[in-house]
Amino acid sequence: GLVEPDKKVDSVCPYCGVGCQLTYNIKDNKILYVEGRDGPANQKRLCVKGRYGFDYAHHPHRLTKPLIRRADAPKRGDFVMDPNNVMEVFREATWEEALDLAGGKLKQIRDQYGKKALAGFGSAKGSNEEAYLFQKLVRTGFGSNNVDHCTRLCHASSVAALLEGIGSGAVSNPVMDVMKSEVVIVIGANPVVNHPVAATWIKNATKAGTKLIVMDPRRSDIARNAHRYLQFKPDTDVAMLNAIMHVIVKEGLVNKEFVESRTIGYEELEKNIEAYSPEKMAPVCGIDADTLRYVARLYATSKASMILWGMGVSQHVHGTDNARCLIALSLMTGQIGRPGTGLHPLRGQNNVQGASDAGLIPMMYPDYQHVSDPKVRATFEKAWGVQPGTLDDKPGLTVVEVMHAIKEGKIRGMYVQGENPAMSDPDAGHAREAMASLDHLVVQDIFLTETAYLADVILPAGAFPEKTGTFTNTDRIVQMGRQAINPPGDAKQDLWIIQEIGKRLGLDWDYKHVSEVFDEMRHTMPSIAGITWDRLEREDAVTYPCVKEGDPGDPVVFVDDFPRESGRARFVPADIIPANERPDTEYPMVLITGRQLEHWHTGSMTRRASVLDALEPDPVALIHPLDLAEMGGKPGEVITIESRRGKVTLYARADDGSPRGAIFVPFAYYEAAINKLTNPALDPVGKIPEFKYCAIRVTVG
Ligand code: SF4
Repeated sequence: GLVEPDKKVDSVCPYCGVGCQLTYNIKDNKILYVEGRDGPANQKRLCVKGRYGFDYAHHPHRLTKPLIRRADAPKRGDFVMDPNNVMEVFREATWEEALDLAGGKLKQIRDQYGKKALAGFGSAKGSNEEAYLFQKLVRTGFGSNNVDHCTRLCHASSVAALLEGIGSGAVSNPVMDVMKSEVVIVIGANPVVNHPVAATWIKNATKAGTKLIVMDPRRSDIARNAHRYLQFKPDTDVAMLNAIMHVIVKEGLVNKEFVESRTIGYEELEKNIEAYSPEKMAPVCGIDADTLRYVARLYATSKASMILWGMGVSQHVHGTDNARCLIALSLMTGQIGRPGTGLHPLRGQNNVQGASDAGLIPMMYPDYQHVSDPKVRATFEKAWGVQPGTLDDKPGLTVVEVMHAIKEGKIRGMYVQGENPAMSDPDAGHAREAMASLDHLVVQDIFLTETAYLADVILPAGAFPEKTGTFTNTDRIVQMGRQAINPPGDAKQDLWIIQEIGKRLGLDWDYKHVSEVFDEMRHTMPSIAGITWDRLEREDAVTYPCVKEGDPGDPVVFVDDFPRESGRARFVPADIIPANERPDTEYPMVLITGRQLEHWHTGSMTRRASVLDALEPDPVALIHPLDLAEMGGKPGEVITIESRRGKVTLYARADDGSPRGAIFVPFAYYEAAINKLTNPALDPVGKIPEFKYCAIRVTVG
């Protein structure tokens, strides 16, 4: 008969930034099934990942004991993971031995080579409290700001542009606001795949009459609901968006009152876009002038227009410029600061917003307070009980910069919690070599990831349903995730492990409960100062900014002013910068990387979730059927993709939504780790790599 649960625990989904609330149904410390709960972002809905992607927690590959690399282990380097030979490379250890070695070696490197010889990567999958404690460990225990996480690979450029332009890196309006919009632009995002429940709200809005404009070089499923679909050429965002703004100026559609009373720098923008007429830009971006005019009028004249974007915008060497154009578009038309308007960069990981807020970034303390500001440093020195003048006043290194610094011998030891740079970094072969050359690498995770395989010490952590903590979704809603089951074997919760490493670096911490960490956070972070642990326990979800206890929280911000010095937003003009690596005769095609519905990021969890793995078991590349036919291939056949940096072999899947000459590959498959091919060239402002464009050649076989 049917197995009945003996326990129900309310929590949130561990995958994407939509932040769906769910209930775990448990029997004998095992999750039987998951149900959607009536949360503010999901109203009982879940996508296939949230509903079926839970049994990774019970997978036999779970790490259950601390592991130490054997002295006679094979050389670290490139590899195909083989869970069966783990014990040839590692040996089991007690927590005491593993922690003493992990923390002791980090301390030794710090004392011998200086504070900047260490770096730490925290995780956007961890809780706010874990992120906060991890950055505090790096800043006070390692003694530098060399702390970062995967936000650098996802929306760093969007956040840089938003902080510069409107003074806040978070979204202005929640996704659900699309129901109040007359016009919605979705650009460089594939929400049906990456934010599936959010996509249902966008589709509902179109049914109720909202006009959806989809702009994307790849025609994704949301284009089916579009009023207009603009398949612009890859890499030409700035050309297209400047042309749209040009029309708005020329046709007198600028919201003068808004521009005059609430912004600065408009004249410079107007001068800059003079050169970008739709006629001139049409051949550049591949969208005809009439369509550019039509979209410009529609967006500018509607009562409420909103823009949502994703990695297609951000992951370019001109990612910051792309976002600057979107911000300028909303400001010049006054389409911000009201319900149904505004700017929404769709967040990837379930807690990438929260981890960034909590200070898991090299240039800012919690709540985006800059490390170079002496007043800010003094506040944190006091709050953290460290000697005045001891906190580092220089921004630390970002994700990709850390890998280069290892190669240069500047960084010698690293602590990686819950991230998998061996799969997620651009030019992953280089990143793997770099990490393999470290004097000491400590990895804390739930599986023997491709990164953990390179480690000297592996610390087995608790999975998402095995711990309690808060998570902040793409809408700025802080939500409570609750422990539903116990970690397997000797695995421990991250918060405990971080503290134990801290102790070995001389930190005198004694947090007894996760709520004590949250309480410390809210006293150093003005935007969540009003959110108490008790309220989260009671209400499960509270939106920030919430500055005083009892505040309802603000789902829509910038109503009266922008959080910049003058209270005004700033226009920043952008010109066309080409992709760093263009196709040529040797590498004639373009590679675009991203995600697919069933697998999440580097696949460490979803490929060990039985239903999801059964749905998408093998690495695939999406290619236009005519391109495939031209090279003599058929759908389902094996193809090889090669760039100047690496080569993978996987299955071709025909997709007539792909642009001609470009190929799309998800980065979830270790056996075809596509990031070995990607270009590590960085956007100079956001320091984000160009995952959405590099030159490749493709052969059948
Ligand atoms: Fe989880 Fe995102 Fe799916 Fe919701 S939409 S169930 S948060 S993966």
